[in-house]
Amino acid sequence: MGQEKDGLWQAVLGEIELSVSRGSYVTWFKNTTLLKNQDDELVVGVGTVFIKNQLERKFNQLIVDTLEKNGVRPKKIEYKIHTASSNLHNRSKEEVIMVAPTPSTKHRNTGGGGSSSSGVRHSYRQGLNERYTFENFIVGSGNELAYAACQAIASTPGKKYNPLFLYGGVGIGKTHLIQAVGNAVLSNNPDAHVVYISSEQFVQEFLDAIRYKKNTDFAGFYRGADVLIVDDMQFIAGKEKTQEEFFHTFNALHQANKQIIISSDKPPKDIPTLEERLRSRFNWGMSIDMQIPDFETRCAIVQTKATGHGVTLQPDVVDYLANRTQTNIRELEGSLNQLLAYCEMRGLEPELQIASNLLGSGKSRPKHLTPKSIIEKTAKYYKISLEDITGSKRDKDIVTPRQIAMYIMRDELHLSYPKIARELGRKDHTTAIHSVEKITKESSEDPDLRTSIAAIKERLYA
Ligand code: ADP
Ligand code: MG
Repeated sequence: MGQEKDGLWQAVLGEIELSVSRGSYVTWFKNTTLLKNQDDELVVGVGTVFIKNQLERKFNQLIVDTLEKNGVRPKKIEYKIHTASSNLHNRSKEEVIMVAPTPSTKHRNTGGGGSSSSGVRHSYRQGLNERYTFENFIVGSGNELAYAACQAIASTPGKKYNPLFLYGGVGIGKTHLIQAVGNAVLSNNPDAHVVYISSEQFVQEFLDAIRYKKNTDFAGFYRGADVLIVDDMQFIAGKEKTQEEFFHTFNALHQANKQIIISSDKPPKDIPTLEERLRSRFNWGMSIDMQIPDFETRCAIVQTKATGHGVTLQPDVVDYLANRTQTNIRELEGSLNQLLAYCEMRGLEPELQIASNLLGSGKSRPKHLTPKSIIEKTAKYYKISLEDITGSKRDKDIVTPRQIAMYIMRDELHLSYPKIARELGRKDHTTAIHSVEKITKESSEDPDLRTSIAAIKERLYA
């Protein structure tokens, strides 16, 4: 019974995910659970009273409709605050739920599937979500290279950058961009065979194909793609048989000049137990390291998304939101949605005070974030003394932390270069410019350095 219930709710969430914005999905639906389904009276567990209100007021009909599509005609739905669902930051299974396109999508749904609830029926799905387009992707430092490569691929798939390997942290737009390629290819050529799949789903389908002896069917389907997009490649790690199958698929497509696009949370060399021959194939094309967009770009994203909701935000609110979320655009969208919904329900203007009251308990920029705290935390992280970091020694293990402190002051506090130099007891601000540029460049090439910077920031915000 428990499993049936979970399966039903997973199916419902899967469909809802396709019909609302990503931010709405994460904010309102992602961590809900079905607590009870008895005689078509349902109890849905939600994390907060806020989510409860929103589901009741805005999304109840959508939920009822989606349940009906899945064969349940609810007599009554109750939304109940339930602590197990209140873990809003549970991101362990990020982005792995794949669902078939809703019947309204204009794209061809290749293969079977449909609304079979058993899960036994084998469905090869295109899996593209029309909401992810180039038009609504904001370009700035951090993602511009990836954007340019994706656009080039969309206009001439299979010609350049094959395969394209995009990697970077969670929630920074990888899925958005690679789906945008698929959507653009289809809009240029509606007959193109574009397949989007997460590697986890690839693994599952491969295993099913073996189990149900439909192996040739499986192979044929993927090898018939004009553009094959595999999201979250890291999940294929350690799955030997699947890697082998993927290797053959890769070769067949590549030889036929079909486009292959892969995303992952880390570069091929850092995916443990990725077979060497796959790793070397991935290096045939182009690898791009995607990063969280800079502050200005994050502001533009907030503005654009707010405008999409028909709201114009004051600049201080935009700054606040963009500053508050430093690592993850999905979270940024989540906070914006939370703010807008809160204000909409109460008929308020989204002002800075409201935003900081509502979201303040999270990782907002703390008042104690000062140049001094940045210098101290950086010195502490590298286990060097304050005198050393602010002093004049030129040893490498002191110079690098000093430069990182400057970089973080610029990145987090947007201080001027002369001010940054003064904070570190220096007269000449060209050192600060040089340091910030150096660390910016190095961190784009060196994941270890990025990890260190993220760890220092984490401590600053702790
Ligand atoms: P990832 O796959 O890297 O974890 P996603 O592609 O799922 O991240 O992005 C998370 C959310 O942030 C999505 O809703 C996406 O539309 C949005 N997003 C990310 N980057 C941008 C951007 N540059 N412009 C507009 N929206 C973005
Ligand atoms: Mg993703």
